[in-house]
Amino acid sequence: MRVLLTGSAGFIGSHLTERLLSDGHTVIGVDNYISGQPANTQLFLDHPRFSFIEADVSTNMPVVQEPLDWVLHFASPASPPHYQQHQIETLMVGAQGTQNALELASRHGAKFMLASTSEVYGDPKVHPQPESYWGHVNPNGLRSCYDEAKRYAEAITFAYHRSRGVDTRVIRIFNTYGPRMRADDGRVVTNLVNQALRGEALTVYGDGSQTRSFQYVTDLIEGIIRLMGVDFHEPVNLGNPDEYTILQFAEVIREAINPQLPVVFEPLPQDDPMQRKPDISRARELLGWAPSKSLHEGLGLTVAAFRQPQTAAPLDHTA
Ligand code: NAD
Ligand code: UDP
Repeated sequence: MRVLLTGSAGFIGSHLTERLLSDGHTVIGVDNYISGQPANTQLFLDHPRFSFIEADVSTNMPVVQEPLDWVLHFASPASPPHYQQHQIETLMVGAQGTQNALELASRHGAKFMLASTSEVYGDPKVHPQPESYWGHVNPNGLRSCYDEAKRYAEAITFAYHRSRGVDTRVIRIFNTYGPRMRADDGRVVTNLVNQALRGEALTVYGDGSQTRSFQYVTDLIEGIIRLMGVDFHEPVNLGNPDEYTILQFAEVIREAINPQLPVVFEPLPQDDPMQRKPDISRARELLGWAPSKSLHEGLGLTVAAFRQPQTAAPLDHTA
């Protein structure tokens, strides 16, 4: 396949690039580095089936002359501090960026995938969250630039599927972690792992009773590849249903790195969802997919990567 991947220099984009190349595909990565890392592009630059275009897909989506089989739209700031620092750009990439990517897929007759999010469920009142749940989202709060952008992105993806016949896929990704996350992205996994490695107190926002369910990145990538291989257009949750309170998560980090570390409590950010856990029945039935890595295993791999001076590990390009 010839694949155009937006957001290729991001955390998930880099793992997806790695998997696509090792499966024998050709990858054209596109990124403007608003939240991604040049080191993630650097990893693949000498691979014969990888090329990279630096561009903002909201305003300057590249015109590709060669045929494309897949357009995978993963560009968007994803961590709350990043998207709150870039609110308008986040809305633009969910709206105009998604439309530009859909137009590209439509012109090439390519399959399209949207990286949507569990944030479309907002602060959910249904638990765990099945794809049929419409969500509970503050339309103008601090998180709205991300949540509503992704809800619009889903809507326009479905519009292109219904009105233009584009062969679309929509995944709703739940909290995903692993090597190559930006150390300064402000998400709970990177904050706490780095605090623990530096011997600092672990910051827990609120009383730590809010929950998240953490998925290791290679499990997500496997779900993405499987979904591209089936004919299915409704949204699919991809996440690990093992649910932890944030205080329990801090305890797991302490046990893994340094049990002596204190926890400090800081104010809970506005509209922080109180619980989140995917119902993955659809992915199980449709794709025969379920996460394979426990939090313990996945964190072990992540911590090992964060102990290295550079988290972007070199690849075997013979694949
Ligand atoms: P990330 O910030 O590491 O990667 C996103 C990439 O998109 C970055 O490299 C950034 O520079 C690029 N980008 C953003 N706007 C762009 C634009 N206008 N033009 C070109 N490139 C642009 O985040 P991530 O965690 O890798 O997330 C990737 C995708 O998955 C995002 O769409 C995100 O919303 C979605 N997602 C991630 C998670 C998670 O837990 N990591 C959860 C749900 C959804
Ligand atoms: N959080 C925390 N300490 C931190 C960073 C985040 O307690 O240093 C909390 C945050 O308030 C939220 C949860 O951890 O309840 C997950 O936050 P993250 O930013 O990783 O992702 P999201 O809120 O988008 O799920």
